[in-house]
Amino acid sequence: MPDQSHPEIRESVRRLCAEFPGSYWQELDRSRTYPTEFVRTLTEAGFLSVLVPEEFGGAGLGLSAATAILEEIHRSGCNGGACHAQMYTMGTILKHGSPEQKQRYLPGIASGALRLQAFGVTEPTSGTDTTRIKTFARRDGDDYVVSGQKIWISRAEHSDLMVLLVRTTPRDAVAKSSDGMSVLLVDMREAVGNGLTIRPVRTMLNHATTEMFFDDLRVPAANLIGEEGKGFRYILDGMNAERILIASECIGDGRFFIDRAAAYASEREVFGRPIGENQGIQFPIARAHVQISAAAAMVDQAAAMFEAGEPCGTEANMSKMLASEASWYAADMCIQTHGGFGFAEEYDIERKFRETRLYQVAPISTNLILSHVATHVLKLPKSF
Ligand SMILES: Cc1cc2nc3c(=O)[nH]c(=O)nc-3n(C[C@H](O)[C@H](O)[C@H](O)COP(=O)(O)OP(=O)(O)OC[C@H]3O[C@@H](n4cnc5c(N)ncnc54)[C@H](O)[C@@H]3O)c2cc1C
Repeated sequence: MPDQSHPEIRESVRRLCAEFPGSYWQELDRSRTYPTEFVRTLTEAGFLSVLVPEEFGGAGLGLSAATAILEEIHRSGCNGGACHAQMYTMGTILKHGSPEQKQRYLPGIASGALRLQAFGVTEPTSGTDTTRIKTFARRDGDDYVVSGQKIWISRAEHSDLMVLLVRTTPRDAVAKSSDGMSVLLVDMREAVGNGLTIRPVRTMLNHATTEMFFDDLRVPAANLIGEEGKGFRYILDGMNAERILIASECIGDGRFFIDRAAAYASEREVFGRPIGENQGIQFPIARAHVQISAAAAMVDQAAAMFEAGEPCGTEANMSKMLASEASWYAADMCIQTHGGFGFAEEYDIERKFRETRLYQVAPISTNLILSHVATHVLKLPKSF
């Protein structure tokens, strides 16, 4: 049996997910609708606040509890992408916010009364080269005035608050390109229609992602998180948790595909015998299991290092890369094992196939992870 840390949590997540069968997700997928009921149920069960410390109303558990939750959601055929950011985006306030900001926001986030699950970094012109973002916040009295554009900002229409990365000093006026960026907490309820416009972007999966236009949006200076100009470091801090948690979703996806393929291969008879008797069918399923198990061990290691407060940027990156590639191999194997039925909507495999493909691109693409390993770990010469 694969890793079964946090067995009670896993069992209750599985029970909850059983109330949201494939037909629920198929309907949402067709209409590109947000899974409001699923998110509400997870919130009420307390699964989205496990990382918030007890003093602010959360469960105060470590990252491995969150990985267990997301893995089981995905293994059940559900999708945590609609709400996973509610778990970890608050880490920016928790680690870098003032005592007043923590008191003001964290209890509401823990109860689910406040949704903080939008995270605005990517821009159309800068892409992965984050230090070249152009969205600029100019100080004006007690406010910042924000102008610019973001793209691929997920869940923005289903979030009360957004952690936003902006430039507060132009790139050519700072010594280090990563200096001069700041993090603002934007109250979406006040911002939309008052300088912020959000437009949904329809994609190959139901992910509630959007583009955003900032046209002199006023954000109170009191909503600056940490120190002005140091925001890039705060964002990087949060990215490790995000990568490890998304890796655990890939592990769940991979196990979903393996479970489904093994069951189908044992039942489906062609040429008078189960297709699973053929090694041409067996071996890809076994290979997917080997790859997912190896990736899961890396995810566990990264989560353990994160929980221990150790630097884990490399491990978070490696686990995300391994898990997203293993889940994609498993997805492809599962379609092949099912033959024509792999393409039928009612089997959920084509939907999960589309969903798991995202994670080789977002939240960071494979090439950028390889570049990190090549230059930071192996000390090869930098190309950019
Ligand atoms: C559905 C979805 C949801 C998302 N949600 C969010 C969100 O909530 N918040 C947010 O801020 N962002 C979000 N993103 C953005 C995501 O993080 C980026 O798409 C991702 O980091 C890749 O950036 P890019 O699309 O700008 O690609 P680019 O940077 O334009 O890169 C394009 C390709 O070129 C490769 N490449 C670029 N430079 C190099 C190089 N030097 N060497 C080798 N290869 C290179 C990349 O690996 C990539 O494959 C989301 C994206 C998607 C698709």
